[in-house]
Amino acid sequence: MTLYGGIEAGGTKFICAVGTGPNDLRAETRFATTTPEETIPRAIAFFQPYATQLAAIGIGSFGPIDPRPASPAFGYITTTPKPGWAHTDFVGPLQKIYNLPIGFDTDVNAAALGEQNWGAAQGLDTFIYLTIGTGIGGGVMVEGNLLHGVMHPEMGHIFVPHNREQDSFEGSCPYHGDCLEGLASGPALESRWGVRAESLPNPHPAWELESSYLADAIVNYTLPLAPQRVILGGGVMQQAHLFPLIREKVQKRLNGYLAATEIIEQMEGFIVPPALGQRAGILGALALAQQAFHG
Ligand code: ADP
Ligand code: ZN
Repeated sequence: MTLYGGIEAGGTKFICAVGTGPNDLRAETRFATTTPEETIPRAIAFFQPYATQLAAIGIGSFGPIDPRPASPAFGYITTTPKPGWAHTDFVGPLQKIYNLPIGFDTDVNAAALGEQNWGAAQGLDTFIYLTIGTGIGGGVMVEGNLLHGVMHPEMGHIFVPHNREQDSFEGSCPYHGDCLEGLASGPALESRWGVRAESLPNPHPAWELESSYLADAIVNYTLPLAPQRVILGGGVMQQAHLFPLIREKVQKRLNGYLAATEIIEQMEGFIVPPALGQRAGILGALALAQQAFHG
């Protein structure tokens, strides 16, 4: 039986797994993301007992990364502000030990692929996976291919109207201040309201504002990309009451303009939580391995 290896490389922790899918995970481990010199060898060591059974390895990584196989920097984490990790060769050291196909993409593109294989995007070929957590990021699949372009999408650093009448918070993005991530990530909620996002009660004005920024962003992605579905994951979306608020505001913003009945008549099916929940990342990494193996 062919097995796949997966690495979900997050800024705070790594998850590694071996298996073929959600119902067939043979082993799994997690450890803190420290230095690359320590963390990457730990991942390599985890796969050692399965070396002869592995067909491919998939890595869904925090970024920015270079996922373009033809690029000289392919397989690298590139300009990350995370101390010690800028310009780190991630794929190289794994390739050296295990001479296998290695799929390498962003954590969110991986999650999108995982959701397509086993979750909330089954049967779809054009959709968006967004995470609203420590940062805001998104994976995009367009007509069956994960979108890369010159690097990969940076869905969090877009600009939505800053509602200064109700929101004097300047935004928390170190690069842009009040970009979407600066206004609507978990840390932005915490800085604006002075308590962690999970401690904010409901109802609270925070959620009106949050759903409004997220709805604006979804409208801005939906018009150019025409996705069949938008999946919203990440810690902040644990606040399930955000879903109806967001759907209602997207509907209102679109104002009947789109003719696609998938969107306007089926908002509940258009904006949805991930079916794989917190498992989307690691299962996505396995899906990247599977994709790398099949070419
Ligand atoms: P990461 O983005 O680091 O991978 P998460 O997706 O869990 O991890 O996002 C962490 C952020 O989400 C933190 O800012 C945290 O305050 C917020 N968060 C976590 N759980 C909840 C919750 N239940 N409700 C609202 N916010 C939450
Ligand atoms: Zn930004």
